[in-house]
Amino acid sequence: MTGYADQPWLRFFTEEQRQDRDFPPSVLHGFLARAADHPERRALAYFDGALTYAELDGLSDGLARHLADRGFAAGDRLAVMLQNVPQFVVALLAVWKAGGAAVPVNPMYKRDELAHILADAGATALVCSERAWAEYVRETAAQSPVRIALTACERDLQTRDDARVLAGPRMPADDAEDVLAAARAAAGPRPHLPLPTAGDTALISYTSGTSGRPKGALNTHGNISFNAHRQVRVQALPADSAVFALAPLFHITGMVCELSAALAGGHTLVLAHRFEPGVVLDAFREHRPAYTVGPATAYMALLARPDATPADFASFRLISSGGAPLPPAVVEAFRARAGGLYLANGYGLTECAAPCASVPPGYEAPVDAESGTLAVGVPGPGTMVRIVDDDGADVPFGETGEIAVSGPMVVPGYWNQPEASRTALPGGELRTGDIGFMDTEGWLYVVDRKKDMINASGFKVWPREVEDVLYTHPAVREAAVVGVADSYRGESVKAFVSLRPGAIAEPSEIVAYCRERLAAYKYPREVEVLPDLPKTATGKILRRELKAAAG
Ligand code: AMP
Repeated sequence: MTGYADQPWLRFFTEEQRQDRDFPPSVLHGFLARAADHPERRALAYFDGALTYAELDGLSDGLARHLADRGFAAGDRLAVMLQNVPQFVVALLAVWKAGGAAVPVNPMYKRDELAHILADAGATALVCSERAWAEYVRETAAQSPVRIALTACERDLQTRDDARVLAGPRMPADDAEDVLAAARAAAGPRPHLPLPTAGDTALISYTSGTSGRPKGALNTHGNISFNAHRQVRVQALPADSAVFALAPLFHITGMVCELSAALAGGHTLVLAHRFEPGVVLDAFREHRPAYTVGPATAYMALLARPDATPADFASFRLISSGGAPLPPAVVEAFRARAGGLYLANGYGLTECAAPCASVPPGYEAPVDAESGTLAVGVPGPGTMVRIVDDDGADVPFGETGEIAVSGPMVVPGYWNQPEASRTALPGGELRTGDIGFMDTEGWLYVVDRKKDMINASGFKVWPREVEDVLYTHPAVREAAVVGVADSYRGESVKAFVSLRPGAIAEPSEIVAYCRERLAAYKYPREVEVLPDLPKTATGKILRRELKAAAG
C-alpha cells in the first residue's frame, strides 16, 4: 500500500465524497445551526414527551450558566452517568457550551469503577440518576473531586411511566440539584465563551474494559464532528427523520452515530431509557425511525420476540450493527424477519469516535469463502486502514495482521497516559488490537481480538469463526467460545451457548454439529448451555468472564 489516494476501497465513494473534508469544528456548531434554522422541530422524543431544538438549546444554555456560576471553567470535566434519557443530551450540550469535556460513565458501574473514573478524570461535576445518587454515588462522590452534583429522574419529560424500564418511586435529593430544575432556574443566554475548536477535548471516554482497567480516550470535538457529519452525509436521511438510540449514549456508538449525527443532521433522536426488546419494538411502532445502530446482540434479542413483525421495521431506510461481531447467520435471520431489511455491519472503536469502516449504502458486505467471516465494511473517505505485522509493516492483501487506523476521527491519546498513548498510537496511528485482513477490493474483515486467540496444540483458533458456525445451529441464540487449559493440547476450545426460546439441544449434538463443519482442531470439545451469556452494557459478550468461570 502506498498512500490514501491508491486505496482500493475508494471506488465505493463518489468523487465528491472522497474530496469532502468540510465538517464543522464541533457537533455543537451543527446543533446550533439546526436550532437556528428549525427551532420548532423535535430534537428529542422520549416515550410521549418531546423537546424541540429551541427547548433543548434553552435548557442546555441554562445548565451551562448553572455550571459556570458554580466555578466550572473551560477544560473542566463533568461526569454523565445516565441511561438514554433527555437529561443526558441537555448535560452534554451544556458542558460543551461551558467549555468543558464530558466523561460518559456506564450507569451500571459500581462504586469502585465509578471512583476510579472520577479520580482519574478529575471530574468536578457529575450528573446521575436520583436512585444511583441515593444508593451509592453520593458516598463515592464525597471522596472524589466532584463539587457540583446534579441528579436526573428518568420519569421526567414524559407521562407513560412504562414500568418495564421506568420502575420505582421518585427520590429527590436535598444535597444535589435536579438537572432540569437547575437548567430552568438559570435560564438566559449561555455563558460568553467561544465555541469549541476542533482540537479541544469533547469527551474523555473510558474504554468499555472487556480487558484491563479502563483508560480515558480523549475524543476531540473534531474527531466526533468528522464522524457524525460523515454519518449524516452517507445516510442522507430526509430532514424530518427520527433516529432511534438503540445503543447506549454513554458508549461511543450511541454518542456519535445516534446522538451526534441526529443533532448535527437536524433529526429527532428517539430515546427509550435502556434496552428492553418490548419497549424498543413499541418505540419503533410509535416513532417510525429511519435509522438505528446497535450491537448484534440487541438484534438477536429483538428477533427472539415472537411479536416482532416486518411492519415494525418498515420505516427504516438504513439499519446497522456495530461495536461487536456480527455473525452472517444473524444478517439472514434478520432479513427473513424484518421484511427483507439488510442489517449493515460497521466496525469502530472508542478511540476512533465509533465507525472507521462500514458497508456503504446500496452495497452488501461479502462473506469470506474460506473462513466464513462477514466483512465489516470498507474504510470511509479520509480514513486510512492498514493491516500490519508486529513491526508495523504492511502485510499483503488477504493476509492477517493487526488492524491499524489513521484519520481525522482517531484520538490524539489517552488522558494522563503518555506511555499507553505512545504504544497504542505510534506516530498517531491507532493499533486496534484487532486481527483482520483486507481483500483486494478493500473490504475489511475482523478476525478477532488479538489476545482472544486460542492456541490448540500450536494451531491458531479464532473464537469468532467457531461462534459464526454455532450461530447457524437452529437452536442457538447466543454463542461465545474460549480457550480452556488442556494438559494434552495446551488449550482446547470450549463453547458457551444460550438457546432460542422453546428450543432444545443437547451439548453433544452441538459438538457434533460443529465437528461436521470445522477442522478437527477448531471444533469445540465441550459445549455448555447457559440461560443467558454475560454481556457488557454495550452488548459485547464477555468471553473473559466465561473463560474465568471455565477455569
Ligand atoms: P469499543 O471501544 O467499546 O467500541 O470496542 C471496540 C472493539 O469492538 C473493537 O476493537 C472490536 O474488537 C469490536 N468491534 C467493534 N465493531 C466490530 C465489528 N463490526 N465486528 C467485530 N468486532 C467489532
